[in-house]
Amino acid sequence: MKRSQLFTKTSKTVPGDEQARNAQLLIRAGFIYKVMAGVYAYTPLGLRVLEKIKQIVREEMNAVAGQELIMTNLQPRETWEPTSRWDDEVVDVWFKTKLKDDTEIGLAWSHEEAIIEMMKQHLNSYKDLPISVYQFQVKLRNELRAKSGIMRGREFIMKDMYSMAVDAKQHDEYYDSVKEAYKRVYDRLGIGKDTYVTYASGGAFTKFSHEFQTICDAGEDVIYLHRGKNIAINEEVLEESIQELGIKREELEAVKSSEVGNIFNFGTDKSEQMDFTFTNEAGERQFVHLGSYGIGITRLMGVIVEKLADEKGMVWPKNIAPVQVYLVSVGGTDLVREHSEALYQGLTRAGIEVLYDDRDVRPGEKFADADLMGIPYRVVVSEKTIASDQYEVKARTADEPQLLDKESLIKMVAQKSS
Ligand code: ATP
Ligand code: MG
Repeated sequence: MKRSQLFTKTSKTVPGDEQARNAQLLIRAGFIYKVMAGVYAYTPLGLRVLEKIKQIVREEMNAVAGQELIMTNLQPRETWEPTSRWDDEVVDVWFKTKLKDDTEIGLAWSHEEAIIEMMKQHLNSYKDLPISVYQFQVKLRNELRAKSGIMRGREFIMKDMYSMAVDAKQHDEYYDSVKEAYKRVYDRLGIGKDTYVTYASGGAFTKFSHEFQTICDAGEDVIYLHRGKNIAINEEVLEESIQELGIKREELEAVKSSEVGNIFNFGTDKSEQMDFTFTNEAGERQFVHLGSYGIGITRLMGVIVEKLADEKGMVWPKNIAPVQVYLVSVGGTDLVREHSEALYQGLTRAGIEVLYDDRDVRPGEKFADADLMGIPYRVVVSEKTIASDQYEVKARTADEPQLLDKESLIKMVAQKSS
């Protein structure tokens, strides 16, 4: 990708209407566009990050036999009435509208009931189970406050997965496998060591549900950590858990965090409400055991910005950076242009994603943009580097650049971990 062809511009000015650092940086770097509070568009660079996060999640959900699908944003009232969740008193984030003939419809803030409604047509026998389905979908929620940038959207992307099992045992096995899959997701996103499986208020069926909370000053939650025992508890269930887990209040440390995912066991509650059944071996109708598993895709992107950014801008982990290399040509001579173009082609052929800053602007401006955008490596081509038959390479988090030949450069950039 060439910078001269990228339509988005960077900006030095912090947007005045934006308090959240994640949104400030993402807007300034041209990764997102703010439409209104809590509503953001993802421009080419931002979309690349989003797609990479999704791909990591997708691979891990596929690894636990999740089947990907996509549900709809428009929802009929009938689907949500059996569980009382059409009622605005019960669910206070609905956006609702009407068809031309005055039929009331809702815009999906969740797809739990929607998925069950569909699965009723496909699930008959115990032989069909277990089943797990998931999607990446836009959720629309009329959130009261939207001041955390992309960490709390009124329109945001969630990965939501739903599991169906014959009984509690089959459910629990699957639930545990998803818990492990989630840990792999956060590890691969570079926030594993700060992300805690956290006791939270229960699903319908169990005393506690599990949230995945990432330590983050910009987060809206507070969790209590027991570092010795590696236990984390959401403040909303603190007293209950202290008793249950046999730990002491003084041993816990309160930290701010952001909920990047959660997993629920519904038992058979929802299936009973929605009459969702299968036939067991003895030919009897049984209620399906349900689980629900969310990951906030766009929120994760915001959390990663918040956690890793420094005074110069964003810092993306290698495996979700929009590109690996920000290529800077210094000086406008034909020689520099030719060498830069050749390196751009060479890196691209080697499978490395490059943003080539081919613009006729001061080098300082290009360096500042490379830092603001958080690209893992900045590579400079100048008369000087050409003379030495090397390239000047600086990792985003390194203090000093180093000179490398093309082969070593490719090797360094292509390395797996960040
Ligand atoms: P929260 O307590 O933060 O409102 P929630 O309990 O409403 O979250 P769920 O409905 O279970 O969350 O959604 C699953 C995941 O989607 C959450 O763990 C979170 O990562 C993400 N999420 C929820 N609401 C938002 C939002 N408004 N904007 C961005 N991500 C969100
Ligand atoms: Mg919520």
